[in-house]
Amino acid sequence: MTVPAGFQVLAETAFPKTTIVRGYNGRTLYVNVDTGAMEERPVTQQMKDIFIGGRGFGIWRLWNAVEASTTWDDPENELVISSGPVGGTTNYPGSGKSIVVSLSPLTGNVIDSNAGGYFGPYLKFAGWDAIELQGKAADNVVVYVDGVAGTVQLLSCPAMDLNTHVLGESLIRAFADSDAPRDLAAISTVSTGSGAEHARWGCLNFSFFDLKRKAMRIKQAGRGGTGTVFRDKKIAALVVKSPAVNPESNQPADLNRIREVGAKINKEILELDASQCDMRRVGTAHLVEIMDEYDLLPTHNYKFGKHPDSGNISSHIWRERFGQNMPDGCWLGCTMSCSHAVDDFELKTGPYKGERVLVDGPEYETAAGSANVGIFDPEFVLEMNFYCDTYGIDTISFTTGLAFVMECYEAGQIGPDATGGLDLRFGNAEAAMDVLHQMGRGEGFGVVVGQGIRRMKTAFASQFGADPAFMQDIGMEAKGLEYSEYVTKESLAMQGGYGLALKGPQHDEAWLIFMDMVNNQIPTFEDKAEALHYFPMWRTWFGLVGHCKLPWNDVEPSDNAKTAEPAKVPEHVDNYCNVFAGVTGVEVQPEDLILQSERVYNFQRVFSARLGLGTREHDAIPYRSAGPVTEEEYESRADRYDAQLKEKVNVDPSGKSTREKVSILREYREGQYEQLIDAVYKRRGWTSNGVPTIAKLEELGIAFPGVVEIVRPHQ
Ligand code: SF4
Repeated sequence: MTVPAGFQVLAETAFPKTTIVRGYNGRTLYVNVDTGAMEERPVTQQMKDIFIGGRGFGIWRLWNAVEASTTWDDPENELVISSGPVGGTTNYPGSGKSIVVSLSPLTGNVIDSNAGGYFGPYLKFAGWDAIELQGKAADNVVVYVDGVAGTVQLLSCPAMDLNTHVLGESLIRAFADSDAPRDLAAISTVSTGSGAEHARWGCLNFSFFDLKRKAMRIKQAGRGGTGTVFRDKKIAALVVKSPAVNPESNQPADLNRIREVGAKINKEILELDASQCDMRRVGTAHLVEIMDEYDLLPTHNYKFGKHPDSGNISSHIWRERFGQNMPDGCWLGCTMSCSHAVDDFELKTGPYKGERVLVDGPEYETAAGSANVGIFDPEFVLEMNFYCDTYGIDTISFTTGLAFVMECYEAGQIGPDATGGLDLRFGNAEAAMDVLHQMGRGEGFGVVVGQGIRRMKTAFASQFGADPAFMQDIGMEAKGLEYSEYVTKESLAMQGGYGLALKGPQHDEAWLIFMDMVNNQIPTFEDKAEALHYFPMWRTWFGLVGHCKLPWNDVEPSDNAKTAEPAKVPEHVDNYCNVFAGVTGVEVQPEDLILQSERVYNFQRVFSARLGLGTREHDAIPYRSAGPVTEEEYESRADRYDAQLKEKVNVDPSGKSTREKVSILREYREGQYEQLIDAVYKRRGWTSNGVPTIAKLEELGIAFPGVVEIVRPHQ
C-alpha cells in the first residue's frame, strides 16, 4: 500500500474482510503502537451477551489488558474505542457515538467518555467492533485503518503541527482518495493537541467532514484525560477510511422496524423541538438561561447559581452566532442535529492569532464553565472553546480547575508568586487565556493547573502554605475528576448523582436536579435511591450500544406528561427496545435494557475495587457541592438557609452568627449525604462499603472467578 508523502510504514497487516451481521463484525482490532504487533481478536457470544458493545467492550478488553498495579502511563494501559451494535444506524437519530475507555491520568481509575463524529461507526464499517491501542511508541505515529483495502498500518508521522484543527484537516486531505467531498467524507480521524501532552485534562477530538461547510468538524470525548493517554503513547492520530455508508451498512435484523420508530421520532423532533429545547437551532447552549433561572448555573467556582451578566452568554447570543442557521448533525441521519458551530471566528490570542477559524460549539458546559470563572463575554467563550479543542483540553476540567485557582487566589491561599505573576481573579479573561496557552506550550503555571484540582491542592499546600481543609471544601473534584457545570447544593439526589458516578462527577450518569429540587418527585431516601439506581443504569445503556442520549429526553412526545413515569420518557424507551431488536434480532423489554447496563455497571465497579478505588471513601464529595462553605455563600441565600435550619434541622437561627449557622447546616447536610449513600448501596445490592455483593454478581451472571476473588474480602 502506498502512503501519503512524509509518512513511513512501520508495520502493516492485511486482514480478511468481514461481513457485519446484525450490528457486529465479530472481531476487534489490537494494535501495539510500540512493537507494531496487530491482531484480530474474536467477539464471543458471551461478550455480546454480557458486555453488549461500546463501553462494555472497552471495559472487558481493558480488564484483560491490565493488572491491579497498572497505572495510566504504563505501556500496558490501553485506549479502547468502540461504537456498539446500534452504532452506525442511520434511521434513528443519534446512533453514531464512539466510546473511549482507559485508565485515567486524573483518577487512576477506569474512565469512559463518549463522543459524536464518525470514527466509531466508520471503524465498524471498516471491519472492526473496537480498536485496542497498547504500548508506547518511540516517536509520533499514526494508526491507519483502511476499510476499503482491508489493511491496518502503523505509520511514522512526519514533523507537523499536532493541534487538531491543523492535523485533522491535513490528515483527511492526505488520506482521502481525492479532494472530492465524497472522498473527504469517507475519512474520520481521532486526534488531540499539544495541551494533552502537558496536562492531565487531554481530550480526544473525533472528526467528521461537514459537506455543507466543506470543512472538518470535531466532537470531543472530553472527560478524564484520554487525550493525555493518547499522547503518552505518542499517538498523533488515528485515521479510518470507511466504505460508502447506507441504511443497510449495519446489516440490521429488521430494517423496517427501525425505520418505523425512526420516522415516528423524526416527526416529533421536527414538530416539537422548536417549542421544547430548540436543539436544532441552539443545541445544549439553550440551558444557560434555564440554569441561571433556577440558581443552578455555576458562577465563581460554584459559590453562586446565577449572575446578572449571564444573558451575555445565553442562547440568544448563540442563536445569532451559529453559522448558516441550519441544523448540524454529528452523525448521519440525526434529525436532532444539535452540533452547532460558529464560522469565521477571528482569533485574538495565541499561536494562531489573526486566523479565522471554525469553532465547534459552544455546548452548554463550555459556556457555563465560562460563568464559573466569572467571565460573561461570548468572545472569550469562543476563544477558549477553540483553543481547548485544538490543544486537546477538556473545557469542563479547564474551567472548573481554573475556577478553583481563582477562588484560592482571591481568598489569599495563593498569590502571584504561585501563578507566575498572573492576576487570576474571577473575570480576568486575559489571564485565563494566558493559562490555557501556557498549557498548550507546556510552560509555567499552566502546567501546574493542568495537573488537576486534586494535585493542585497538594502542591498549593506544600509549596505556598495554602489551607488543605479550605481547599478540600472548595475544590470541585471527586475521585480526582473535576465536576461538570451544575450547582447541586439544593439537590441531594444530584449530589449523589455526581458523587456516586463510577468515573467521577460527570452528569452523564444521572441528572436528577429537576426531579428532586424543582418538582419534588423523589422526596424520600428510598425514592432518591431508586432514581440513583434506574437513571445511571439507563444512561449507561446508551454507551453500550452507541446511541446518543439527547434524543431520549431532549425532545418528548406531546403526551409524555400524561404517562405514569414521564421522567423515563416511556415511549422513547419502547423505541429503543425496537431499535435494539431491529438491529441485533434479540427481543428485549425495557427491564432487559436496565439489566444489560447493570451487568456492565457492576463489573466496572468491581474493576475499580480491583484497582483499590471502588469503595465508599472514594464516593466522598467536596462540601461546596452539598452546601455553603463560606459565610459569604450563606449570606447570599440567608433566607433559604435560615428557613431550612428551622424546618429541617429544628434549630432556631435567630441570634446565631453566620459562622454558627454554616456549621450547623453543614453537619445536617453531610449526614444526609451519608444516609443517601447507605440507601443507594442497598438498592444497588452493594455492601455498606460500596462493593457489589457476591449474591448480586451471581444474580447478574458476572460472578466469574476473577471477579469474586476481588469482592470476597469486602463481603
Ligand atoms: S443529538 Fe446532537 S450530539 Fe447527539 S448525535 Fe445528534 S447531533 Fe450529535
